[in-house]
Amino acid sequence: MKENKKIYITGHKNPDTDSICSPLAYANFLRQKGKKAEAIRTGKINPETRFVLDYFKIKAPKLITSVKGKQIILLDHNEKTQSPDNIEKANILEVIDHHKVLFKWPEPILFHSEPVGCTGTLIAEKYLNDRKVKLSKQMAGILLSAVLSDTVVFRSPTTTKKDREIAKKLAQIVKIKNLDKFGIEIKKQKASFKGLNAKNILFSDFKIFNFSGKKVGIGQIEVCDFKEVNERKEEFIEKFKEILKKEKYNLLILMVTDIIKIGSRLLTVGQTDYVEKAFDKKVKDNSVYLKGMMSRKKQVVPPLERIFSK
Ligand code: MN
Ligand code: MN
Repeated sequence: MKENKKIYITGHKNPDTDSICSPLAYANFLRQKGKKAEAIRTGKINPETRFVLDYFKIKAPKLITSVKGKQIILLDHNEKTQSPDNIEKANILEVIDHHKVLFKWPEPILFHSEPVGCTGTLIAEKYLNDRKVKLSKQMAGILLSAVLSDTVVFRSPTTTKKDREIAKKLAQIVKIKNLDKFGIEIKKQKASFKGLNAKNILFSDFKIFNFSGKKVGIGQIEVCDFKEVNERKEEFIEKFKEILKKEKYNLLILMVTDIIKIGSRLLTVGQTDYVEKAFDKKVKDNSVYLKGMMSRKKQVVPPLERIFSK
């Protein structure tokens, strides 16, 4: 690594709170280690992340969509389809992530993958294990917010003991007593369809997967109840069918996740028989409810990928 060349730290496309806050905090950490580091983002700040950044009075990272020729650290993802454009023409130095590993790179790099609930947990751990760096209230605050966001306030099955323990330590630094209340306040910022059209809703937190050569898109949105989705279902399905055809998907899914009741309604178009097989439940009128389903990464992607590979 060239000592004085700037290192850019980025999360995934369609950034969530973890993909904005972890790069900000890791850049701060590396700067304290004498490195030139800057957090960047590859997309719009969502209302939840906006709330967090405003709450802790932190500026959003710079928007940079193409990273050709730059030194890059990838956080919160390791799949090329989720990286900034021209990632193959960048110099990747390091990856820190908590998703399934689908990474290939021609050179040896630092690669930290750990099945925890949030990348923020891993960044916070670096701070807490290093006596030479200072973890400010602001940095602790955004890392804590990332953990609360990604784990859906510890309700998601992706939550680990480490996430809880680190969050507790961060909460002490930030001086937040009621973590549940603060977490729900964060989650509520985004938990609504208000002012969004069907396309915005599908793409607000959207990931594209290649399952045995099939193009599958899975969006997720969190809500406090299913009232809105029930009312607007027809509109959504119609739009999704249009997108499926235009962008040549084999399968499109929108996970509408009720963060209070803990479960998801999947709205799906295309080869929905794969959804039926993966979850062993009938899809009726392009919709199926899955109780306890919270995590795309842990509960939706693995069974689907398995069925596609059969
Ligand atoms: Mn993420
Ligand atoms: Mn994450």
